[in-house]
Amino acid sequence: MKVPLLDLKQQLSYLREDILEAVTRVIDSTTYIQGPEVSSLEQDVAAYCGVENGVGVSSGTDALLVSLMALEIGPGDQVLTTPYSFFATMGVVLRLGAIPVFVDIDPVSFNIDPVAMAEVLVRDSERKIKAILPVHLYGQCADMVAIMKLANQYALPVIEDAAQAIGAECPMSAEGSEINGQWGKAGSIGLAGCFSFFPSKNLGGIGDGGMVVTRDRALADKIRILLNHGASPKYYHDQVGGNFRLDPIQATVLRIKLTYLEQWHRARRENAGRYNALFAEFGLVQNNFLVLPQAVHMAKKQDNSAVNGAGKNYHIYNQYVLRVSRRDALINWLRLQDIGCEVYYPLALHQQKCLGTSFPALSFPQAEKAAAETIALPIYPELTADMQVYVVEKIAEFYRQ
Ligand SMILES: *Cc1c(COP(=O)(O)O)cnc(C)c1O
Repeated sequence: MKVPLLDLKQQLSYLREDILEAVTRVIDSTTYIQGPEVSSLEQDVAAYCGVENGVGVSSGTDALLVSLMALEIGPGDQVLTTPYSFFATMGVVLRLGAIPVFVDIDPVSFNIDPVAMAEVLVRDSERKIKAILPVHLYGQCADMVAIMKLANQYALPVIEDAAQAIGAECPMSAEGSEINGQWGKAGSIGLAGCFSFFPSKNLGGIGDGGMVVTRDRALADKIRILLNHGASPKYYHDQVGGNFRLDPIQATVLRIKLTYLEQWHRARRENAGRYNALFAEFGLVQNNFLVLPQAVHMAKKQDNSAVNGAGKNYHIYNQYVLRVSRRDALINWLRLQDIGCEVYYPLALHQQKCLGTSFPALSFPQAEKAAAETIALPIYPELTADMQVYVVEKIAEFYRQ
């Protein structure tokens, strides 16, 4: 049996007619830049997230970049973030001449550890840290209650890298807002949230795309200007922006896919539950060959954050990521069995060569350990139960060797 890591052909088979019709409509309209498809998607995604403003952009990377530009993050500024994420999280900070300040991750959620974060903020006596950039990795929110508490305490803006987490939910800030104790969607809790529509994300286009969502109208307006070269009005540039516009062909396809998103999240969550049960059934968890991914129980966090909404994060499983023993041998074995898998990510961000010698001897043991121990298995919505049984059987076979 062949089990790919992701199979977009399955999804296309039931969306193809609708997509072709919508794309044809955009082509026939001859509105190829911005226009009604982009603004409709902006409204749809903002409403889905429970916020007022959505701004379509060219990619998840550009969503992060233009958000930081709107905050006027520049040379010498520091941005507090996680060392365990896709490169773009750090890349956008570096491209603005700013400096990423890392704190280690929580080993269970793989997300930034707010306790370590608090320690770094206390030491920042010169107030060089200008923003907090948490990532909701693999489709699970970071601890936003604790993060928002720190952000309020230090008056820092929070830009959520929700590229992998559109539709994920978690408790929101208990302070400073009318949304006390409520659960909120990823991207709607900080000052702004950034989504990616890269094809492998839960809501993926037929090419690149992204969006910034925010409750802050002024910020949204600023981002709209920046994504058009900073022009306001046209041909008058008080600031330097770029071309970060979302393509209407992507927007029209994404509008169709958005109507399936909740159903796809449910299928991914069911698949995760099925893997968990199968791995336990095969004794792989009890024998410590594997550590299963976990939706964190926010109410059990040991920090002093006041958690009103007790319960577990609503994890959307953009990736199903396990810790495994003998990882590299297991990967080779899975390849031989035609089972797709991937390492997200083999290096922590502070270990990347592009940093040169500017970050001497940094060490984040949990991020490095995660980079060395984890693999992602197929979890896409159309994955069948038979395929999952096959994957688990083959992994069990590997550990019997
Ligand atoms: C995918 C991703 C991005 C970048 O999104 P693109 O649309 O590929 O530019 C940024 N951050 C994280 C965590 C991602 O997973």
